[in-house]
Amino acid sequence: PVVTRFAPSPTGYLHIGGARTALFNWLYARSQGGKFLLRIEDTDRARSTPEATQAILDGLTWLGLDWDGDAVSQFESADRHAAVAHEMLASGAAYKCFATQDEIEAFREAARAEGRSTLFRSPWRDVPEAEHPDLPFVVRIKAPQNGAVTIKDKVQGDVTWQADTLDDMVLLRSDGSPVYMLAVVVDDHDMGVTHVIRGDDHLGNTARQSMIYNAMGWDLPTFAHIPLIHGPDGKKLSKRHGALGVMEYAAMGYTPAGMRNYLARLGWSHGDDEVFTTEQALEWFGFDGMGKAPARLDFKKMENINRHQIGMSDADTMLHDVQSYLAATGEPALSDDKAKAFVDAFAALDVADKTVGALIEKFAFVLDEPPFTHDEKAEKLLDPVSRGILKQLTPQLQTVSWEREALEHSIMGFAEAHDLKFGKLAGPLRVALSGRATSPSVFDMMMVIGRDETLERLAAVAA
Ligand code: GLU
Repeated sequence: PVVTRFAPSPTGYLHIGGARTALFNWLYARSQGGKFLLRIEDTDRARSTPEATQAILDGLTWLGLDWDGDAVSQFESADRHAAVAHEMLASGAAYKCFATQDEIEAFREAARAEGRSTLFRSPWRDVPEAEHPDLPFVVRIKAPQNGAVTIKDKVQGDVTWQADTLDDMVLLRSDGSPVYMLAVVVDDHDMGVTHVIRGDDHLGNTARQSMIYNAMGWDLPTFAHIPLIHGPDGKKLSKRHGALGVMEYAAMGYTPAGMRNYLARLGWSHGDDEVFTTEQALEWFGFDGMGKAPARLDFKKMENINRHQIGMSDADTMLHDVQSYLAATGEPALSDDKAKAFVDAFAALDVADKTVGALIEKFAFVLDEPPFTHDEKAEKLLDPVSRGILKQLTPQLQTVSWEREALEHSIMGFAEAHDLKFGKLAGPLRVALSGRATSPSVFDMMMVIGRDETLERLAAVAA
């Protein structure tokens, strides 16, 4: 069975690159009926914070990426990581190195002077069972001394490192604490991880990690190193480009479904499909669709996908997204009454917009409380002549049968009879019904709020 994991370092929020990595691992696990695990890589005690861990969990939750079991702390397994280093020591795959910093520096100096590789070659590697009870030591792995290490990667293909570029890396520091590289391998092994999907900035680590797998006689997982996300200009992603926390995207009005759809397309594709549901992504997702070229962040595309996803959303999901958006922007949640009005209206109408914020604006006609206060543009549409027209229209609406076609017929007929362009009538009607200069179609609004409420709103502005 497939087991993937997301292994963030809790030093900040869940940024867009991490979210994409999490999504790929989640999609792969879920599409294969496997497990998606979450491991918090908190071994860097100085930089890891519980707030960051919480922010990452919140970001994943918002994005709809559920993980199996509890999130595990890497630091809590430090003893196990150290024990593995001791096993390697016992088997001869690793050794105690008593070289001092000064000696290492002197080695490097000499190597530089002679034009050799400055990778440290410890004189202790070949001293069997060296013991110096009073001297500090680190534990180093015995890296291969000739030949090469090749990793099969689902995205990058075969990647090879010559042995002379790999040093005897440290596994345990002189205080006995395990290094990060060891922790990752031991955890991935112990958690039964079968597939490691991560950014290609980790590719270089993979050769070193593979040495640990080999030393322990463990099977390597399948690796897929995906290209990093770049900014719109093709350069490394920066804050200015959108290297933001996912909750900042939530506050900009992106929906979880919109983000999932957009992020899935960053480094993965399925033919020409740009807009798809998460169910479709689950059906299609795999390593074949992953590309080697760095993906570029494109806000236009992102908005466009978001608009489609909002349009495809069911009303309950949309309500949930609206409430999350309001929370992310620090605004009060919709009350039960308003939530119901929103759900009914959203279900009844075919309305979308590129952000949740813009969508909420469109639903002002059910979310705002009349009497409305009009902005300047709306007020202008309600000049005395227009107010008069609305007054004349009113009796007709008292008797028409309240169905969309009948309403259209009646109102169009009124415009024709009074030699009015439809827009001349729709503008003021829109303001009367919504309080705004932009809204869904007047017929849509009339159907949603019904005859009584329509007449009330007209009466409030007609003169
Ligand atoms: N903790 C690493 C990071 O946040 C990920 C390590 C991994 O996926 O192997 O970049």
